[in-house]
Amino acid sequence: MSTIAIIGAGLSGLALALALHQQNIPCTLYESRSAPLNIGGAIMLSPNALRILDQLGVYARILPSGYTFSHLYFRTSDDHPLDSYEFGSIPKYNYPGVRIYRHILIEELTAMVHEANIPIHYHKKFSRVLNESDTSVTWEFADGTTASAAILVGADGIHSTVRKYLYPDLEPQFTNAVGVTAAIPTSQLALPPSLPSEEEEEKTYPLPVTILNPTHGAFVIAPQHPTGSECLIGRQKHSPSLTRQQWTSLLTDESKSWCLDFLRDNATSYPAIVQRAVSSISPESVNLWPFYIVPRLESWCSDHARVVVLGDAAHAIPPSAGQGVNQGVEDVFTFACVVSRCGFGGDGDEGKLQKGLKVWQKGRQARVDRVVELNGQINRRRMPKQPGEGSEGMEEGMEPFELEWLYQPDFREMVEGWLGAEGL
Ligand SMILES: Cc1cc2nc3c(=O)[nH]c(=O)nc-3n(C[C@H](O)[C@H](O)[C@H](O)COP(=O)(O)OP(=O)(O)OC[C@H]3O[C@@H](n4cnc5c(N)ncnc54)[C@H](O)[C@@H]3O)c2cc1C
Repeated sequence: MSTIAIIGAGLSGLALALALHQQNIPCTLYESRSAPLNIGGAIMLSPNALRILDQLGVYARILPSGYTFSHLYFRTSDDHPLDSYEFGSIPKYNYPGVRIYRHILIEELTAMVHEANIPIHYHKKFSRVLNESDTSVTWEFADGTTASAAILVGADGIHSTVRKYLYPDLEPQFTNAVGVTAAIPTSQLALPPSLPSEEEEEKTYPLPVTILNPTHGAFVIAPQHPTGSECLIGRQKHSPSLTRQQWTSLLTDESKSWCLDFLRDNATSYPAIVQRAVSSISPESVNLWPFYIVPRLESWCSDHARVVVLGDAAHAIPPSAGQGVNQGVEDVFTFACVVSRCGFGGDGDEGKLQKGLKVWQKGRQARVDRVVELNGQINRRRMPKQPGEGSEGMEEGMEPFELEWLYQPDFREMVEGWLGAEGL
């Protein structure tokens, strides 16, 4: 029994398959849909994940399809530059920030998984664990078939079913915030021409930008497509809690009227660029993203260390620092390094694997915790004040962000450090 089963062929699952393959560890992917989940247009990748994707041979393949940038810019509601947040830097970290359509990243990762001859079984919905021993785990799919492996990894997203084995009663929590996004042609924004000198920044309109309105929430404009010819526009604000079914019906309403109203609401309280951005929106491009989180988990694996969760299944976090996917990539690469070092085949290594995975989770959780703190700092800038929170607003939490800890690490060295400290 020397194979690892991965539930979910989303971004974490596919990247995990490539990371295990690089360590010569056989694995198989099981995905409930006919293709992996493709939600939300483009995603942002930062140097921490890009360094890993480079080591897996993915970076060079996706770079031509991505829009590269270095900073996210913040502006006031009366349209003055306020601040910027570094999302990548070739001189500092060797990698820029990259915005890439999720479906392109999924297609490229899937192609690489096929090239590595790693099996992907679609229409295989994991249902429940039947039995776990010191050396293996057996589970059932929704179609009643069963399978076994040395380790079962749940990379099955925020509403993970694998996590139910570890935490039967745990449900993701709504954060009372929601984002609605759409895609528009960049030409619709009628941007001023870009100027070569940074001194002219007041006269140009650097993107991606977040326009902060203390009363009505943040409005984001972020180029996508390698040439930047298309922009994501998005609005993030507080929202009452709805059921998953109610959210889905808002999104599946063909006219998307709730979502369009959400984007256009009080547009005149924002600069003219926002009014141009929302002047014409194609309903098919609209996406709704209620922000849920997974509460901090005590453990990411079972006592026997044969069932593990990672990616959004282990730590779905709000999107403010753009780290959802990026933290999943960190999980999978470091997990593969730990399993490679500790062994997992049931040949007397169980104790070592259990210890190794504990050390892995401790190290990973510490980084996720720091990202959650960073999200909090960013949110204080982006979200409107709730009644009773005071009106002093934007100046609070405007300290510069120090991000080397996030973007710079060499993850192989990091794993060596974690394991070495425990004598593993
Ligand atoms: C609209 C939107 C925009 C986003 N933008 C960004 C961004 O810009 N940057 C960023 O870092 N993050 C972003 N995120 C967050 C990001 O999408 C997640 O962090 C990321 O998708 C997590 O990847 P994952 O592979 O862990 O889970 P998922 O992407 O959720 O993949 C899970 C996979 O498991 C499959 N699955 C589920 N249950 C089962 C089962 N029982 N059996 C078999 N298969 C199953 C699903 O079909 C899916 O393919 C965004 C999210 C949304 C919704």
